Amino acid sequence: MILTISNATSPATDLGFLLHKHPDKLQSIDLAVGRAHVFYPECSEERTTVALMLDIDPIDMVRGGGRNLQGRSFSLGQYVNDRPYVVSSFMSVALSKAFSTAMNGKCAKKPELVDQKLALKVEIDVLPAPRGGESLIRQFLEPLGYQVEVEQHMLDEKFPQWGSSKHFSVTLTQEVKLSELLTHLYVLIPALDNDKHYYVSQDEVDKLLARGQDWLPEHPAKDKIVSRYLKNLKSLSRQANRLLAPELEDQESHEAMPEPAVVKERKANLHRQRLELAVKKLCESGASSVIDLGCGEGKLVRMLLKKGQFSKIGAMDISYSELGKAKERLHWDDMAPRQKERIDLFQGSLMYRDKRLAGFDAAALIEVIEHLEEDRLQAFVRVLFEYARPGTVVLSTPNVEYNSLFENLQEGILRHDDHRFEWSRKQFESWANKVCQNHNYRVEFFTVGEVHHEVGAPSQMGVFTRGD
Ligand code: SAH
Repeated sequence: MILTISNATSPATDLGFLLHKHPDKLQSIDLAVGRAHVFYPECSEERTTVALMLDIDPIDMVRGGGRNLQGRSFSLGQYVNDRPYVVSSFMSVALSKAFSTAMNGKCAKKPELVDQKLALKVEIDVLPAPRGGESLIRQFLEPLGYQVEVEQHMLDEKFPQWGSSKHFSVTLTQEVKLSELLTHLYVLIPALDNDKHYYVSQDEVDKLLARGQDWLPEHPAKDKIVSRYLKNLKSLSRQANRLLAPELEDQESHEAMPEPAVVKERKANLHRQRLELAVKKLCESGASSVIDLGCGEGKLVRMLLKKGQFSKIGAMDISYSELGKAKERLHWDDMAPRQKERIDLFQGSLMYRDKRLAGFDAAALIEVIEHLEEDRLQAFVRVLFEYARPGTVVLSTPNVEYNSLFENLQEGILRHDDHRFEWSRKQFESWANKVCQNHNYRVEFFTVGEVHHEVGAPSQMGVFTRGD
């Protein structure tokens, strides 16, 4: 299958610079299930067209097994399917591999081109759009400013009685930046196709966030795009929608809503106490480098910066919008270079082993683990306690027993709708002790906030120290 992008803004040959692909060369890229070829069917000052052609190997696809073709509903579905002939998520992968620099909005040779809007036209031969068809294609693309032409194909022209297929030829025209156009295609092609060839996982949320963060939050069909992109996996779409929300709720208003000013103030105080205790424990550990995992808007980072003891401060979060807030609150753009050098702020997920997490003396996770799926906590435990292995880990989480004292929190309801679980003191302690046993750490427990004689304190903290 083939996808072409034409530029009609003179000199149209600039397209070659932007894509980092020379018009005179045929270039090929290996993919997991075949090859992608990039070439230019036409190249002149007036009009230049690049073609991305996918040559999918159906045998490779079958070797990929159920994983590549999950959801095929009949036994020969593995062999008889439209995948080699349509623009699908394979095309997204090819786009991101072939044109990654352009998609990231970079052009070393002619940087001024990156922000220039070009008269671009995309032609997609066969795009599947089940459960929605033409109106879905328009619903997804027109709000982004594209002029959309759609032609629906018959199932088989020889047998008109069989009716129409779910396949369309689509032409999109707009004056738009190339990087924007590429990210639109990257997200919307699989969302329209709605049939992913690889597993939908946490990783997919990260990619969607990275590619959609600039335009998806305001898109009127955001929810539908997200859920189709994530193949209707409810928990992942909920998470992505939350992370893409233009205005995230204040981290301090974690607990039940709505709430009077006095309750808000109490919670703000509670959070301050957590952070202050974390800073105290980190200082006591003697660490000179520390990483704040799930740093949110960077409150702890700002407090750590004030302590000269920490020469290196890492901060990671999965949410770009939180990291943006953190930069704003740190006055990142005006920060003195010497301060800036101490900080390393980056996006990442706690569910994946990541070299950037290694080498720190200490790590902090303040009210973070309850945001992870409980049945996947083990992955996080290995990432932190087995691979990164900081000398000290300061970790806090709510104490669910205390919820009964929150007046406007119904029984059985968690404090924040993004919490996946909340633990009693016993549950937290037994989890922490097991982590220590398995990974050679020891742990000491502390309370955060006012301690009630029966239910304990609102929040609990474990300070883990590496054994060796
Ligand atoms: N530690 C901060 C924020 C706590 S809220 C504070 O105390 O103020 C929880 C944070 O964890 C959010 O910013 C959320 O984006 C982040 N988070 C959730 N899942 C994550 C994951 N898998 N990897 C990294 N961060 C994650």
